Amino acid sequence: MQIDLSGKNALVTASTAGIGHAIAMGLAAAGANVVINGRHPDTVQQVVDKLRHHLHGASLEGVAADLSTADGVAELVEAVPSVDILVNNAGIFGLKPFFETGDAEWEQYFQTNVMSGVRLSRHYMQGMLHRNWGRVVFISSESALNVPADMIHYGVSKTAQLSVARGLAKLAAGSGVTVNSVLPGPTLSDGFKAMVHEAAEREGKSYEQIGMEFVKAHRSSSIIQRLATTEEVANMVVYVCSMQASATTGAALRVDGGVVDTI
Ligand code: NAD
Repeated sequence: MQIDLSGKNALVTASTAGIGHAIAMGLAAAGANVVINGRHPDTVQQVVDKLRHHLHGASLEGVAADLSTADGVAELVEAVPSVDILVNNAGIFGLKPFFETGDAEWEQYFQTNVMSGVRLSRHYMQGMLHRNWGRVVFISSESALNVPADMIHYGVSKTAQLSVARGLAKLAAGSGVTVNSVLPGPTLSDGFKAMVHEAAEREGKSYEQIGMEFVKAHRSSSIIQRLATTEEVANMVVYVCSMQASATTGAALRVDGGVVDTI
């Protein structure tokens, strides 16, 4: 199967690092024109320059905008009025006991993880429906299904994304626009590295080793028994954005290494 996204315009939110960065690389390598987004203009420009160097001839643009607010989303939409492929990857995560998680933090998670994708889909999907072709992907998590007791606020935001995606898929019924969620399991992203950096330094272990121990201790149902790489997650997203994935919509597609124990 040859995936060719030449001529398609794609936006990957929060793509200066981690899973979003790998998705942006995958889409650009498949020929799409890709918009890189992050919060800081310098970082965005550095990533655009690096990817241009790495992927000769890739068509890339960078837009800095903080997607945790309506104003930030409006800035992005003004700079990029139309796309064919929208990957709602922006999301924050962190452990926090339920009894210590206040309203402000719940609100921050809802705004960043759910409303960013709601606002962007509300804008971009209208053009996709008009042109009768489009791909919208929400990067949810296995935590949407296996809600972790130590980050319930995160789990709730990820479950909400599944609901939004399923509803939007139905809204696009009969059209060439598909909407899906992709559910990564524990993945060796820059965010994950930052979370375990201290332990890795202290114990003199690689991120992969620490990751394997994390998976055994906290995600023991994992079948692959290790963290996924960001590229493994990106491969699924690039496929679901392809022409070939035209009969896959309204789905929650797992790249969780088998963590969710259902058939
Ligand atoms: P990461 O921390 O490695 O990268 C996050 C990126 O998001 C960075 O480029 C950062 O600058 C950007 N960012 C953060 N807040 C932003 C904002 N308000 N506006 C714009 N950009 C912003 O993250 P990751 O681990 O790659 O996670 C990406 C997505 O994947 C998230 O939605 C996360 O919930 C989901 N996910 C991650 C894992 C995992 O184990 N890493 C597992 C399941 C799901």
